[in-house]
Amino acid sequence: MAWDFSTDPEFQAHLDWMTEFVREEIWPMETLDLELEQIERAMAPLQERVKERGLWAAHLDPELGGQGYGQVKLGLMHEILGTSPYAPLAFGNQAPDSGNSEILALAGTPEQKDRWLHPLLAGDLKSAFSMTEPETAGSDPTLLATRAVRDGDEWVINGHKWFSSNASIADFLIVMVVTDPEARAYQRASMIIVPVDTPGVDIVRDVPTMEHPTEQYGRYGGHAEIYYRDVRVPAENLLGAEGAGFLIAQQRLGPGRIHHCMRWLGVAKRAFDMLCERSLYREAHGSVLAKKETVQNWIADSAAEMQAARLMTLHAAWKMDTQDASAARQDISLIKFYGAKVLGDVIDRALQAHGSLGYSTDLPLEAMYRFARAARFYDGPDEVHRASVARQVLRGYEPPADGIPSEHVPTRRAAAQEKFADLLELVTQND
Ligand SMILES: Cc1cc2nc3c(=O)[nH]c(=O)nc-3n(C[C@H](O)[C@H](O)[C@H](O)COP(=O)(O)OP(=O)(O)OC[C@H]3O[C@@H](n4cnc5c(N)ncnc54)[C@H](O)[C@@H]3O)c2cc1C
Repeated sequence: MAWDFSTDPEFQAHLDWMTEFVREEIWPMETLDLELEQIERAMAPLQERVKERGLWAAHLDPELGGQGYGQVKLGLMHEILGTSPYAPLAFGNQAPDSGNSEILALAGTPEQKDRWLHPLLAGDLKSAFSMTEPETAGSDPTLLATRAVRDGDEWVINGHKWFSSNASIADFLIVMVVTDPEARAYQRASMIIVPVDTPGVDIVRDVPTMEHPTEQYGRYGGHAEIYYRDVRVPAENLLGAEGAGFLIAQQRLGPGRIHHCMRWLGVAKRAFDMLCERSLYREAHGSVLAKKETVQNWIADSAAEMQAARLMTLHAAWKMDTQDASAARQDISLIKFYGAKVLGDVIDRALQAHGSLGYSTDLPLEAMYRFARAARFYDGPDEVHRASVARQVLRGYEPPADGIPSEHVPTRRAAAQEKFADLLELVTQND
């Protein structure tokens, strides 16, 4: 029987190296308000070191310059990279480029790979994924309205998108569009590659958010609003088969959610460390916070919940590695809403323990808190994942045929009396 929670020593050495590297070389950068160009300059030598170590773009197969690591190994790496928003950049697996490179690797033609994927991996191009629309519910993508109509050798795209992360700094967009509104719900949409400089692509702003409340166009990690007005691209920019948009998205989202959850654990652990440190030095009402039962509960509950989320996530990753994405579907929904809750709760407790200091920008907790809030709805809101889990769980049940609950004690007792009648008779005789 194989049931193993250990990491092989060779890979653990990589993880130890990453932990030290991210903490020493990348965490300090967070305190500086860097422009994109400065970030890229600072990253270049770090990326070289990551490549030398053989950890660059590890999410991809070896023929694309990656390591072909499975999801468990990747998950363990993402736990470390999640501790800093800049860390994935140094390792060539920053969102959304990492997901987009997976899409291109999965569905791209050899020409598309040459033109878009290889430069993306080399860091010469940047990309965005453009699906969500302000006018339709992102949690129900069958409602998508952006249309692509075939006109000779071209697709003509019209629509309105927003929250296309990194679009304002991207070279090309992977746009989810309806190509056949009459098809079955999940076969209506397709993905099309659109270079940002195509006439008709109008990136109007980076939407200010809880995470970045001030509007600043062209920010790394910004979320762009885009109008597509009679945007014409060659027919060969279609990614995969016509109508395969959701299928491709689904294949990308499974691993992506595992990476998110592991990155959230990296953030949660940083908040947890701050909670523990604070509890040991802050005195109030005659003792340090660590002596207060409430704070002890926060620490214990946080430790338990992070451990649960970590094991659940790695288990989902293991299922993906040993079976496939569909086998891990329920596990992925479980971790998506549970992991987001754990992230929010741990940060909230750490922030509470720091009082005004936690609320201030003198600590990263308030920024973590704002970052964490979005986790409850991007890549599928909590409610949708909960509903999906409940649906899958309930498939294993059916209502009692006679309407009486199967654990109903009087009914079970009557059945047991009949089953053990001899035994009961014997006991009565002995009396
Ligand atoms: C930081 C961030 C980055 C993002 N990056 C990208 C990106 O790169 N590309 C992109 O295309 N999009 C991106 N998005 C958008 C994201 O994918 C959507 O916000 C998400 O899919 C939800 O869609 P919506 O905002 O339209 O909410 P809606 O679909 O309008 O849902 C609103 C709320 O309705 C409720 N709800 C919905 N369905 C149900 C249900 N079945 N049962 C009960 N309640 C329900 C939920 O509470 C949900 O939060 C990003 C968003 C954020 C915050």
